[in-house]
Amino acid sequence: MVFESLADKLQQTFKKLRGRGKLSEGDVADALKEVRLALLEADVNFKVVKDLIAKIKERAIGQEVLESLTPAQHVIKIVNEELANLMGGTQSRIVIASKPPTVVMLVGLQGAGKTTTAGKLANHLKRQGKRPLLVAGDIYRPAAIKQLQVLGEQLDIPVFTLGDKERPVDIAKKAVEQALSMARDIIIIDTAGRLHINEELMQELKSIKQTVRPHEILLVVDAMTGQDAVTVAEAFNNDLGIDGIILTKLDGDARGGAALSVKAVTGKPIKFAGMGEKLDALEPFHPDRMASRILG
Ligand code: GDP
Repeated sequence: MVFESLADKLQQTFKKLRGRGKLSEGDVADALKEVRLALLEADVNFKVVKDLIAKIKERAIGQEVLESLTPAQHVIKIVNEELANLMGGTQSRIVIASKPPTVVMLVGLQGAGKTTTAGKLANHLKRQGKRPLLVAGDIYRPAAIKQLQVLGEQLDIPVFTLGDKERPVDIAKKAVEQALSMARDIIIIDTAGRLHINEELMQELKSIKQTVRPHEILLVVDAMTGQDAVTVAEAFNNDLGIDGIILTKLDGDARGGAALSVKAVTGKPIKFAGMGEKLDALEPFHPDRMASRILG
């Protein structure tokens, strides 16, 4: 389960505090030292941890806490709030165009879960009464088009493909026209991934971006890769520009370092989290609920 080890450690730390009556500055400082270590062990970005602890300390060492009747509760509340703020505070939804179709472009490295997520996202939107169209824009990975078609069939959602001979930018352009003629109100473009970020990939994504002007460019990253996911997000954001992040495989990520760092490092929020391989295992990301999961 996500945040499992971090949750264990923080809960132990705060159990010790709870045993005390009034807290001294030293008690709070000791507890925050443990919080800091636990966050670093959870693979949270070093600078993010530093800033976070400074913020918590400033609030927790104030008179308000030390004099409060249940200081431990107060400190826990502050940590909870700051962890939620770190992840964006409140839920970030995707933008829906006032004039359909809304164009969503999914980008990311190979294996991050992009194609699966395209299906999951389409399923999520369909359940909300939308009429999605999936677009097979990954023409390089041999099985990607077929994989998307299979997902589309399972979900009863149409898949637009022009095979693997047309340029992805033309596929995207024609998909928008197709969506209009089929009265589909949201299109989800699965783009090509690579094993590593390279110039060719970025150029292709940029030309799709310039041509179809997506309302949302969502980066799909694998939570289990920890700080690598954060580095990938920074690179895509700097080079291409993204509107949000979908963090996949959070179900298998016991540490949670990417979930806790990526918003603070890139400035872009996590909008959804993948919680399993099944097509209904995509959840809107709620920073406040995530924080509460850590502190129990
Ligand atoms: P792509 O290369 O980015 O298009 O990746 P795929 O969509 O083919 O996904 C790669 C693997 O990750 C597949 O085995 C998926 O089932 C798996 N996967 C994707 N999302 C999740 C998730 O949220 N949780 C888990 N456990 N597996 C996932």
